[in-house]
Amino acid sequence: MNDCNNPKSEENCDKKFAVVNPTRMCQPMGAVQAMMGVKGAMPLIHGSQGCATYMRFQLIRHFREPIEVASTSLSEKTVIYGGEPNLLKALKNISEKQNPEMICVMSSCLTDTIGDDIGGIIRKFEDANIGLDIPEMIPIPTPSYAGSHIEGYDKAILALVEHFGRISTSNNKINLIMGNMSPANNQEVKNLMNDLGAKAIILTDVSETLDGPLNESTLELHQEGTSLKEIEDTPNSIATISLSKHADSAGKYLKEHFNVESISGPLPVGIKNTDEFVMNVCDLIGVDVPKKVERDRGRLQDALVDAHAYNYRKKVAIYGDPDTVIAIAHMISEMGMIPKILCTGIKSERFIEDIKELSRDINFNPIILADKDIYDLEQTLNNHSVDLLIGNAYGASLANKFNIPLFRIGFPIFDRIGSQRITFVGYTGGIRFVDALTNMILDYYYDAEGYKLSKEELSFTPKSINNPINDSNDTINPVNPIDDEIANSY
Ligand code: SF4
Repeated sequence: MNDCNNPKSEENCDKKFAVVNPTRMCQPMGAVQAMMGVKGAMPLIHGSQGCATYMRFQLIRHFREPIEVASTSLSEKTVIYGGEPNLLKALKNISEKQNPEMICVMSSCLTDTIGDDIGGIIRKFEDANIGLDIPEMIPIPTPSYAGSHIEGYDKAILALVEHFGRISTSNNKINLIMGNMSPANNQEVKNLMNDLGAKAIILTDVSETLDGPLNESTLELHQEGTSLKEIEDTPNSIATISLSKHADSAGKYLKEHFNVESISGPLPVGIKNTDEFVMNVCDLIGVDVPKKVERDRGRLQDALVDAHAYNYRKKVAIYGDPDTVIAIAHMISEMGMIPKILCTGIKSERFIEDIKELSRDINFNPIILADKDIYDLEQTLNNHSVDLLIGNAYGASLANKFNIPLFRIGFPIFDRIGSQRITFVGYTGGIRFVDALTNMILDYYYDAEGYKLSKEELSFTPKSINNPINDSNDTINPVNPIDDEIANSY
């Protein structure tokens, strides 16, 4: 029997007792990211100082923007006697000093464990300030032991729609729930909606808030993003499309309470998934696909054909958020590559179902790592080689160990700059993705004229790396080149 708890044991244990290097973030982090796209919103973490510091630290080093996350700064005493005085004081301070349009109060592991009634404390504050001009306040329960950033994001969007949604006259808009995506991807979706002639309420719009111009003040609340008025208008839309299948609770709520049609996914990445998104939008607003969009689609097809010879049969391991992993798996399959290992950090039936659908489409069964971490991915890579990793910065050590390049997408990316400008959504975003990924492969596996390097050449030839974000500087002497045994994987 394997002795997995004995650190001296050399047995290959199937680790089940802990998460070693997670591919997920904590639950309030997802809620904070959703709130970053709301105009004039101030997130407040009801917990210890470290929780808010952790969020700020991760967000700032990824987006390289000033990020405001307030904290109720609980101490040992408040843990014993309850966090109400700290929360009341924080609500007062934020209202007086920053005067945001909204304060969203996220619980943490600590405050959910001691049982603080955040909704009740907010009501107490509001009752004590009747008649005064205080911000809107909403509670969001986000104990991290009961979910990841994925659930946190979903709960935040639901809380916004539940709190602010009001039925009035039809607005002929489509609510778009974005999921955690980069500002540049967010902008791609907005551009595509514009090209289609569709009006949208973006839930929530980080395209400006997390990729803004240089500003003298780092302490101002952002004046861009989705307004509370727009969120109020969501029950009057034609439909809600959630680009994340794991963040569709607000869509379901609007369907149930206001009969707004709800469509869940997929993330529009690659030809097939973007086609589905485009057709959904065109059907909802009753238009044909515009010529410009058809042309962009054709240019993505052209990019796929141009790059195909370099990418064909490359084996890829992808890790990260389930919607992103599946979407990228579809995209790289369209590029002729093989999604050999798909890893996500949360339990998700939808993730498994989506992989089954992908398997049928491409006639290949990927290795599925669901509710797993980067340690599990490493164990799998010990027995199943791949040519390329796609995921966040936490996989850099694996890329080093296995001498393969890492194409960085997802969150967090703290070891490169430009994370807010990473693009792969839609037809035009897809073109940039194909170019960047193929150029990485050319840099890594091909010589200066674009001829495939042999195993021997790869072992001795340091490669020059040109891509500013997704380079492979940390893995310059690849010893795991293309091997023809891949044919046996089919
Ligand atoms: S996991 Fe819990 S304790 Fe840690 S930062 Fe997140 S909410 Fe705070």
